[in-house]
Amino acid sequence: MVCYGWKERQAEEKNTLAVVKEHNLRILRNVLESPYPEASGYVAIQARDSTSPSADEANFALLQKTYLACKDIKAIAAVGTKPLKAAVAELDRIWPAAGDAAAPLRESDYDNFVRALVFLEDLGVPSFYEGLADADDAQPDANVAFFRGPKFSQPDSVYSDPAALGAYSKTLAGSLRGVLPLNLSDAEALAVGTAVARLEADLRGALAAGEGPPPDLPPNTDAAWVAASYFPYTPAAVASLSPVLRLDKLVAALGPAGYKPEKIVLQVPNYFRNVSVILAKTPKLVVQAYLASKTVARLSDVVVTPDADERILLDPLRCAAYVDEYLKFSLGRFFVTSSFGNRSRDYGDQMMHEVREAFVARVGGLDWMTDGVKKQVVQKAKNVRQMIGYPTSSPDLLDAASVAEYHRGLKITDDFFANTAELGRWNRQKRWGVLGRPVDAGAFAMSVAETNAYYRGAGNTITVLAGIMQFPVFSPDLPAYANFGSLGTILGHELSHGFDNTGRHYNPDGKLATYWDEATAAAFEEKSRCFVEQYGAMKVGDRNVDGELTLGENLADAGGLNTAYAAWKARTKGVPEQKLPGLEHLTPEQLFFVFFANTWCNNFSPAAVAAGLTDEHAPDSARILGTAANSAAFREAFNCPVKKPTCEVW
Ligand SMILES: [Zn+2]
Repeated sequence: MVCYGWKERQAEEKNTLAVVKEHNLRILRNVLESPYPEASGYVAIQARDSTSPSADEANFALLQKTYLACKDIKAIAAVGTKPLKAAVAELDRIWPAAGDAAAPLRESDYDNFVRALVFLEDLGVPSFYEGLADADDAQPDANVAFFRGPKFSQPDSVYSDPAALGAYSKTLAGSLRGVLPLNLSDAEALAVGTAVARLEADLRGALAAGEGPPPDLPPNTDAAWVAASYFPYTPAAVASLSPVLRLDKLVAALGPAGYKPEKIVLQVPNYFRNVSVILAKTPKLVVQAYLASKTVARLSDVVVTPDADERILLDPLRCAAYVDEYLKFSLGRFFVTSSFGNRSRDYGDQMMHEVREAFVARVGGLDWMTDGVKKQVVQKAKNVRQMIGYPTSSPDLLDAASVAEYHRGLKITDDFFANTAELGRWNRQKRWGVLGRPVDAGAFAMSVAETNAYYRGAGNTITVLAGIMQFPVFSPDLPAYANFGSLGTILGHELSHGFDNTGRHYNPDGKLATYWDEATAAAFEEKSRCFVEQYGAMKVGDRNVDGELTLGENLADAGGLNTAYAAWKARTKGVPEQKLPGLEHLTPEQLFFVFFANTWCNNFSPAAVAAGLTDEHAPDSARILGTAANSAAFREAFNCPVKKPTCEVW
């Protein structure tokens, strides 16, 4: 009923949040295509005393210069594929394979190989891992380096089907032939393409087999740490686990000058052990070609090649997204000043407080928890650090001088590719430069224009970006049932993540620790099984939803809806709310659920939904139906014959 008409209204496959994201990008584009917004009425949020008009103008000029270079398709077309070739040539200069190409990596290669990986990190090219510097789960006031497995460019079916892998090999051969420094014949190029595709398939296999704790658990690893995939290693232990892919050297090179890592966290240690074994027997030429293929894939959206997909370059929102990716805080300032008032932030802040209070009240009524654990759970909900809308430190988006200081030293020219390299390097230094420094609790990891919100166990924080606090998810002018039904359930979802099958292992101080007694943990496990079975029985086409994989998200959805509903009821206390034109036949309770479901509408094709089954979120339709089935309030509002929820934890 709620999502009726989506297919008719949307020309492309989209869900509600993708529509909001596009709307946000249009706002960013309008900012970037307009002159500097001098008129004071443009600034919808209160400026700080320290806000400097000249710093603001300089920030704006930097943004616009970056944007215009990105828009200069003529200049981009004139250089053709040169930037691709230059990047691969630089890779070869840093770590040459020629002369010794048939031999695998050996110890004398390690330093240069690591330098090559840093170079790729600057370009945003994924290789053998995904890494980041973030709050240490065991010590949330310190930053530490994390590594997990990479994402793969092809669906799993390509790696397991010889015919599909053969076709992929040919594609790789074609793209590598034009960029590799060696002058390859057709047959040689195909041999290299085939070897690269096999290497990728082997890495995919290593990742699939690499889940879970390593056979020789490092010290200090208890059940909580295993549940959170948190495996801390000393640099020496990493070097002996993965002697060819030297993550210890990589962290030292990525961090600020002089940084010496003491601890490195691996989320999939078995994978890194396996990668090292694979690399130890792979010819250097193939490893280099693999890195080159990743470089080509990453940069192919921004160079004009003979077979380029023109739609990508001509997409009117491409450059707004580009500037937002690289200069998120600078552009974010203009996003919040133009489209996100103090009122929105204050309203959202207040809603989050009310959702937390409702959660605490509901915990009081639970019968499956011992009193000791209950007390800790309540304390943890009270301790949550909430960050709503945009950062006010590092940098402070309300203060132009703070934003300018954050971007000091950045050199932007009219050359799009030079800018991309400079911005990539600068962003990498920002991201990894926090190693060895205390955690900045007010920092935002994402652009404020993103349609997202997230909970982080380490430090017990919830971040809700201004980009998701937009219509139809939220507006300070909508009735409360609408805001609580949509944004409220998202806030409740993030809070519930603090108490899902992973989040519950973080104590009230946001540290990984076992603090639940066995009886409570056993009751939680049993209640969770209900969700695993409920969602596992749901079908998408002829395939089932993965109840285990999606458990954390489903628990968060259920807790989120219950909590938001309770918070809304506590706020309105039966006071009648304004009805919406055309929807007068629905009760406020029913409208609450209409706005909830409206957040998850989409017109995805069956193939896209099936491809999404490997995601830890259940498909949107299952999220709507499963969560509604688990809500007593929903069943009451729509007068369903059964009023009891199917499954319930929070
Ligand atoms: Zn979630």
